[in-house]
Amino acid sequence: MILMLSFITMSNGRILVVEDESKIAEIVKAYLERDNFTVTVAGTGKKAISVLREGFDLIILDLMLPDMDGEDICETIRNDSSVPIIMLTAKNEEEDRIKGLGIGADDYVVKPFSPRELVARVKALLRRVKGTRDKISFNKEDLVIDASRFEVWKKKSQVTLTPTEFKLLQCFADHPGQVFTRLQLVNIILGYDFEGYDRTIDAHIKNIRHKIEDHQRKPTYLKTIYGVGYKFIGQPDED
Ligand code: CA
Repeated sequence: MILMLSFITMSNGRILVVEDESKIAEIVKAYLERDNFTVTVAGTGKKAISVLREGFDLIILDLMLPDMDGEDICETIRNDSSVPIIMLTAKNEEEDRIKGLGIGADDYVVKPFSPRELVARVKALLRRVKGTRDKISFNKEDLVIDASRFEVWKKKSQVTLTPTEFKLLQCFADHPGQVFTRLQLVNIILGYDFEGYDRTIDAHIKNIRHKIEDHQRKPTYLKTIYGVGYKFIGQPDED
């Protein structure tokens, strides 16, 4: 009994991995378990739906399954649950990404992905939904973001960010490795698309860089993806 209790306490959460490619499923499972998550793997949509009632804290859902569309499963889940969902897909089209988020997925990871990044995204999403967003830190505590207090620390001294800068940085930090287009970033800070405004994102990024980067031309956090946008390249510290 005591053993069981301590096992339950140790788990960071129950994750359902819906993925038909067993190699990918095994890797994801191994990485999540290493971080003390309890993992169930379902190789088909049917199996996924049959185990849903077991209750999960988060679902990682492959878009292409042999028996069902990941989108259909997502909609089925959304009919009676608000469990966080991360979509996995080999498709890299912008429309698919938006479509995926439109049908109720909370986040999107494009294959091939690094398992480490996926685990970071799982943790970030769980923090976001639980509302227990404690401090998150990057590059060995070089950058610390305390979302509950709206505070950012660089090399242990506090930096002052405007609310817009904070919102942008927080969004990047929650999605390490993900490329955001300028238009997506406009959408994040304004809540809607506003063409023509996207270049001002560059100004915000420049300001944030001045506050958190050691070398403006060699950023270790906000990398420019030429012709596309930006991505966050800080390395999340282990919890
Ligand atoms: Ca698949």
